[in-house]
Amino acid sequence: MTTVLTPASPLTAADRCDRCGAQAYLRVVLASGGELLFCAHHGRKFEPELKKIAVEIQDETGRLSTTSASASDDER
Ligand SMILES: [Zn+2]
Repeated sequence: MTTVLTPASPLTAADRCDRCGAQAYLRVVLASGGELLFCAHHGRKFEPELKKIAVEIQDETGRLSTTSASASDDER
């Protein structure tokens, strides 16, 4: 049995945060069937809320890991 989810589709540069218009790195699929897109910043900010309403969260923020070597690494 495989537990790998089939991703809807990878997020691209054309996918934009619903809040600020930055490139989206999270896709939140709602129970209602709707979909929200968030940048890494807003995805993290709203994560507690999103987890209550989402049926699936596609998190591609890992792709950002090489962006800044000076960022705090105290959270994993
Ligand atoms: Zn944003």
